[in-house]
Amino acid sequence: MSTRRRRTSSQGLAPRSSVRREAIATVVAAARRPLSPAEILSAARGRIPGIGIATVYRNVKSLVAAGVIRPVALPGEPTRFEASGIEHHHHFQCTECRRVYDIAGCPRALRHLAPPGFVVHDHSLTLYGRCPECASNRRDGAAHRSGRAARAPVIE
Ligand SMILES: [Zn+2]
Ligand SMILES: [Zn+2]
Repeated sequence: MSTRRRRTSSQGLAPRSSVRREAIATVVAAARRPLSPAEILSAARGRIPGIGIATVYRNVKSLVAAGVIRPVALPGEPTRFEASGIEHHHHFQCTECRRVYDIAGCPRALRHLAPPGFVVHDHSLTLYGRCPECASNRRDGAAHRSGRAARAPVIE
């Protein structure tokens, strides 16, 4: 099967690998928030039938190397990825669904928290709480919460 596909691409069509890479770059850019590989996989399934997690990892690595996307590392979390070139911003993680969101704005005075003599080059800031969806589910009662909790490990 793969031999046939390789032959097809040599006849002038875009190689399947670059089509997948483009689709994954599009998924990450369209999300407007950092996505874990599992989230990329689930979003990419609509564009690339039959795509698997190994393909996601391979293309994510290549897109990071090319500077198209960049990693977002939060303590104790799988590395997520966002489009490169977004201006300085911070993140919010929902402690129920584990999704990470971009937040605008920055408390510029953070550099003054460092003791005298320390030179600050950079900072990161993550707010934790509940996203609007999880916050309203909580108000609706416990049924939604248990549903979310059961789904949480899939996102890992
Ligand atoms: Zn949430
Ligand atoms: Zn900042």
